[in-house]
Amino acid sequence: MCGIVGYIGVEQAAPILLDGLGKLEYRGYDSAGMSVFDGEKIQMVKAKGRLKVLEELTHGGKTLKGTVGIGHTRWATHGEPSDKNSHPHFNEKGTISVVHNGIIENYIPLKKKLEAKGYSFTSDTDTEVIAHLLDYYDRGNPLETITKVMHRMEGSYALGILFSHYPEEIFAVRKDSPLIVGENSKGCFIASDVPAVLKYTRQVYFMNNEEVVRLGRDYMHFYTVDEEELTKEAVTIHWDADAAEKGGYEHFMLKEMYEQPKAIKDTLGPRIKEDEIVIEELHMSREEIKAIKRLHMVACGSAYHAGMTAKYIFEGMARMPVNVDLASEFRYRNPILEKGDLVIVISQSGETADTLAALREAKERGIVTLGIVNVVGSSIAREADKVMYTWAGPEISVATTKAYSAQLMALYLLAAYFAHERGSLQEDQIASLIQELKMLPDQVEVLLANKEKIQKFANRYIGAKDIFFMGRGIDYAISMEGSLKLKEISYIHSEAYAAGELKHGTISLVEEGTLVAAVLTQENLYKKMFSNIVEVKTRGAFVLAVTNEENKDIEKVADYVLYIPKTNPYLTNSLAIIPLQLFGYYVALGKGCDVDKPRNLAKSVTVE
Ligand code: GLU
Repeated sequence: MCGIVGYIGVEQAAPILLDGLGKLEYRGYDSAGMSVFDGEKIQMVKAKGRLKVLEELTHGGKTLKGTVGIGHTRWATHGEPSDKNSHPHFNEKGTISVVHNGIIENYIPLKKKLEAKGYSFTSDTDTEVIAHLLDYYDRGNPLETITKVMHRMEGSYALGILFSHYPEEIFAVRKDSPLIVGENSKGCFIASDVPAVLKYTRQVYFMNNEEVVRLGRDYMHFYTVDEEELTKEAVTIHWDADAAEKGGYEHFMLKEMYEQPKAIKDTLGPRIKEDEIVIEELHMSREEIKAIKRLHMVACGSAYHAGMTAKYIFEGMARMPVNVDLASEFRYRNPILEKGDLVIVISQSGETADTLAALREAKERGIVTLGIVNVVGSSIAREADKVMYTWAGPEISVATTKAYSAQLMALYLLAAYFAHERGSLQEDQIASLIQELKMLPDQVEVLLANKEKIQKFANRYIGAKDIFFMGRGIDYAISMEGSLKLKEISYIHSEAYAAGELKHGTISLVEEGTLVAAVLTQENLYKKMFSNIVEVKTRGAFVLAVTNEENKDIEKVADYVLYIPKTNPYLTNSLAIIPLQLFGYYVALGKGCDVDKPRNLAKSVTVE
C-alpha cells in the first residue's frame, strides 16, 4: 500500500520526490509528505489529501531546498488520515525523520516503554515509535542504530530514514513491504515500486527482507540485519517509461484495457517456438511434469479468478486435479500438501502479502512452487522455485485488466504444455489451440472497438443498486471477474453466481428491472444457461447476455446481447471479459467515480 520515495544526489530533491510519489499514486493514499535536508536541518512539509496539496505547499517542490530527501504517500492503518498522522515522523529533537509503509504490530508495548522513558508522542500512528526508537538507540552509528531498532520491531515495514547528523546519506530498510533501489549518474533513489524511478534509471536493485541500504550521492551499500555487507546484482528493467504515463487516455484503466492485445501477444510470443509451446523457464522434464499429482492455484482478487478459470482448463485439458485457494485462507488453514503437488501462486505485483506468505508456507513444507508474476525481480519472483512472467508491462490502475489477461494467457500456455507432455492433448489439437491463441489479440481488439455501444448501455445502470452475474463452468469464473470489476470501481453491489445455484438463493433477490449479466460461451452448457435466463426473466430481470457470435437465438430471451468472436471453448474468458471490463469502467465513469483509484483500495496489497 501507499508509497515511499527517496533521493540523494546533485539535483534538488523535492521535485524528484513529488514526481516519484506521483508515479506511486495508483497504490492508493490519503495524505502525503516530504523531508529534505536543507544544509542545516531537516525541513518537512506534510498534509492530508492528494499530492496536489503538497505540490501547492512547496510550489512543485521548489521551495524545499536541498538535495537529500524522503517522501511518502500514506494509506492510514493506525490513526485517521490527518496532517499530524501524515508521514514523515520525527524524533523530538527533529534530527531523525522517518517514512514508513506497513504496520508495526508491537507498537503498543514499544510506545508504552518509550513513554515510560519520557518520550512524548504527537501522532496516533504506529510509525512514530520508529522515530523515537531510532532516537533512543542512536549512539552515532546509523547502521547500528537501525539494526537495533529492526530487532525490536514486529510486523511489516519499508522505511526511508534521514539523520541530520548524517546529512550525506539516506538509509532504507525493508521487511515484508516492497522497496527498490536505483542509481544513475546524478544520484541514488529508493522507491516502493519501479515506475517511480523509471524516468531516471533502469538499473534497479530489489531489497530482500531484513536488509538495509545506505545511499550516498554516488554509492549504495547493502547490509544484513547483522550489519554484514552484501553484494547485490542490478536487474535491468525493460519497461517503457511511457507505459507509466496516461498517454492521452482519460484513465489508466482505459489505457490498460487497450494494452491487452499487446500484453497477450507479449506473454504468448516468447513461449511459441516453431509452432510448439516451449516454457523453458520451468526447467521441468516430461517425467517431472508427468509426476505432478495435484495443482494448487493460490492467489487473491482477480488473480484468484484467473486461478478459477485455470481449474476448468487444467482439469479439462490436462486431466490434472486442481485446488483453487484464496491465499489468505490457504496460509492459515494448514492445507494438505503432498509430495508431487505443485503450488502455483499468481500475483501481478509479486508482493501480495497473503500470496507471498502462502508461497513461503508451501516452500517450508518442501512443495515445489511456481510463481506467475508480472513484476520482474519482485519477492514472489525471487522466492518461488520457478517463475513464469506475464509480460503485461507496468499496470497502474488499481482495477486490473491487462495483467489479468496476461495471467490467463500464462495459465493457458501452461495447461496446454502440461496436457501435451502428459499425453492428454494430441499434436493436432495443440496445433489448432496455438492458432486460436494467436488469434486472441486481434479478437480482443475487435471487442474493444465496441466501446461506444457498451458505454451507452452502461449509462443506463449508473443508478443500479444490485447487479448480478451468472455463468456455468468457465463462464462462472468470468462472471466472478466481471462482477469484481464492476463493484470495485463503481461501488455498486454485485455478486457472481454459478447459474445452477440461482435457485438455492440468489433468485430471491431478482426484482423487476434487476440487471443480470449472463455469460454463455460454453456450448455444452448453453441450453442450461438458456433456461436460467428464462428463470430470471420470469422474475422481472433485465438480461444482458454475453455469448458466442453464432448463438443468435439468445435474442429471443435476452434483452441485450454482446457477442464474442469464435474461439476454443477453453479460451473464451479472454474475450468475454472485455465487454464486462468496459461495462464496469463506463458505469463507474458515468457515476463520476475515481476509476483508477477506487476508495479504500490499493493496487498492491502488501498488508494482510
Ligand atoms: N501504519 C502506518 C500509518 O498508519 C503506515 C501506513 C502506510 O503504509 O502508509 O501511518
